[in-house]
Amino acid sequence: MSSIADNIGSVTRRIQKATLQAGREPGSVRLLAVSKTRPAEDLKAAFEAGQVAFGENYLQEALDKMQALSGIEGIEWHFIGPIQSNKTRQIAEAFAWVHSVDRLKIARRLSEQRPETLPPLNICLQVNINNEDSKSGCTLDDLDELLEAIGELPNLRLRGLMAIPDPDQPEAELRLSFRKLASTLTKLRQGHPEAGPLDTLSMGMSDDLEMAIAEGATWVRVGTALFGARPAKHSQS
Ligand SMILES: *Cc1c(COP(=O)(O)O)cnc(C)c1O
Repeated sequence: MSSIADNIGSVTRRIQKATLQAGREPGSVRLLAVSKTRPAEDLKAAFEAGQVAFGENYLQEALDKMQALSGIEGIEWHFIGPIQSNKTRQIAEAFAWVHSVDRLKIARRLSEQRPETLPPLNICLQVNINNEDSKSGCTLDDLDELLEAIGELPNLRLRGLMAIPDPDQPEAELRLSFRKLASTLTKLRQGHPEAGPLDTLSMGMSDDLEMAIAEGATWVRVGTALFGARPAKHSQS
């Protein structure tokens, strides 16, 4: 098995190559290391290999790792999992980014509960891009209204959109899903210049990051290719 440091190197090279091939600016795509289910030592190894941004799906698990790694300065924590409204305070206090905001109630709470001592919380709206019944995320039709309301929330910085397209769809359709998210962001930026920077597309994972980058991803969220296969799914929150 290759080491985490080796994997960071090879995923970074994949990102650089795809960025270049897409004719995009070097450095315009960032790597989010998705560390759910991974022990704190794995995050430490990745950090020592130069990885700064980590994505976690389960709040309690993330808080435990923050505690374990509190001696390390400079880790950037991203929340990427489903959000229950009774968890927003801890999320607003502990994270720099939230990629998985999917309704106004959650956005309002995150803004109200963001400590004034911290910079505004960076958020992305998660879009259920393939309209899957089982998936979280708002619909494309919800976005205009959400943007208008979120534009009024002082402690949030609306950075863009996130999606987890159905990975089982044919490659051409997967590509269209990424493309649709990108064109939606472009439209929103034109229609809602006040809503926030809208400079972010969080899309692409271990198996499809090249395609996502070709379609405009600015964050790719990568777990397996960095840390290896995860143990069977658990349902902690
Ligand atoms: C687990 C997860 C990922 C990483 O997926 P891999 O296929 O392991 O790279 C990315 N995004 C979200 C939201 C996840 O839950």
